[in-house]
Amino acid sequence: MSDCLFCKISAGTIPAKIVAETPTALAFRDISPQAPTHVLVIPRKHIVSLHECSADDAPLIGELHLIAQRIAKEEGLTSGYRTLFNTGRDGGQTVFHLHLHLLGGRSLTWPPG
Ligand code: 5GP
Ligand code: ZN
Repeated sequence: MSDCLFCKISAGTIPAKIVAETPTALAFRDISPQAPTHVLVIPRKHIVSLHECSADDAPLIGELHLIAQRIAKEEGLTSGYRTLFNTGRDGGQTVFHLHLHLLGGRSLTWPPG
């Protein structure tokens, strides 16, 4: 999608600190990190949010999580981390291209706000 920030990062037209990439997914550091490790894992194809996913997207959703797991291992997050999708306005989503947050490197509180 031509006016989507994360599609532009996937295409390389907007720079980002890339952490991992596959033919179908990309991981890069969040521009405003909320924890020592804060990485976003996105599908290269434009999907608005989890709410728009179908059964066909199940392998892709799994891939995003396994990429996050691999990064967590590489970054030594041995005492734990959090992976999450914010979905829709009330879910706190601000960029409407599906992205999995990976947060770690500090003790995270619960519940979120
Ligand atoms: P959301 O609130 O939609 O779940 O998360 C969007 C995330 O994207 C936020 O954590 C925000 O800091 C991050 N973000 C917004 N613009 C940019 C950008 O241009 N580059 C990078 N790397 N992250 C961004
Ligand atoms: Zn997009």
